[in-house]
Amino acid sequence: MWEQLTPRVYHLRFSKKANRPSLGYIRGDRFSLMVDAGNTPEHTQEYLDAVRQAGFRKPDFAVLTHSHWDHCFGMCTLDIPTIACTQTRESLEMVSRLKWTPDALEEHAKKGILPRLCIPGLREQFPQLERIHVVLPTVIFSGSMWLDLGNCTCEIRHVVSPHAKDTVIVYVPEEKMVFLGDAIYQELVDDVWIERPEKLRVLLDTLEPLDFTLSQPAHQKAIAKDDLLAWFRRRIARAEQQTQQGHILGQQP
Ligand SMILES: [Zn+2]
Repeated sequence: MWEQLTPRVYHLRFSKKANRPSLGYIRGDRFSLMVDAGNTPEHTQEYLDAVRQAGFRKPDFAVLTHSHWDHCFGMCTLDIPTIACTQTRESLEMVSRLKWTPDALEEHAKKGILPRLCIPGLREQFPQLERIHVVLPTVIFSGSMWLDLGNCTCEIRHVVSPHAKDTVIVYVPEEKMVFLGDAIYQELVDDVWIERPEKLRVLLDTLEPLDFTLSQPAHQKAIAKDDLLAWFRRRIARAEQQTQQGHILGQQP
C-alpha cells in the first residue's frame, strides 16, 4: 500500500477512479506529519489503518494543501491538530456552512462555488450527500511555518499556483523532496481547465531555488525536479504562443 519516496517520506498512492489524492506520511524521530486529510471518512480511515499495519506511529499533525473537497472531506475522521493557511481556513468556513443535497449541489455549481466537473465524483464518493461533514483546520498560519519532527524538518508554505489561491506545499529539506498537492495543475472553472501561465511562472520561480530532487503531486506519480521544471516551461511557452496567436488573429480586420 505504501510507496516509499525517500528514507523518511512515504505516501499512499492516489486513485484517479476514486478521486483520491496521494496522502503523505513524513516520519521524524519524534513526530509524524500526514499530508492532506483524505477525500472521505473511508479514505482517511484506510490511511490510518495502513499506518497501523505498517507499524508506523500515528501521525501527530495533518496539513492541508488546499481546501478542495478531495483533500479534506475526510478530515472529520482525524483527532489530531490539522494545519492550514489562512485562505484554506476561510474557504472551509464558507464550505462548512453549505447544504449538501442534489439540488444544493446544482446551486453551488451555478454560483461557481463548486466546479460542475466535481459533482459526479462527489456524488459517487458520497452516495448519501448528507453524510458530508466539513470540519475546520485547527492550526492556522499565513505565509509559511516550520515543523521540527525530530531530525526532519518541514516547511509548510503558501505559494502562488495556477490551481487555487490557497495552495500550500510541504518541503522536506533533509529528504530533498516536496509535496505539491494540486499546485502544478490548471484552474478548474465550471467544467473547463484553464491555464494561468503568469501564475505558473511564479510557481516555477518559487520551486527552482528549492533544493529538492523529487516532487510528489497529488494526482500523479512522483516527478524529478528537472522534469517538473521542464514541463512548466513547455506549458508556459505553449500558453504564450496561444496568446500571441490570439493577438495576431485579433488584429486582423
Ligand atoms: Zn484541487
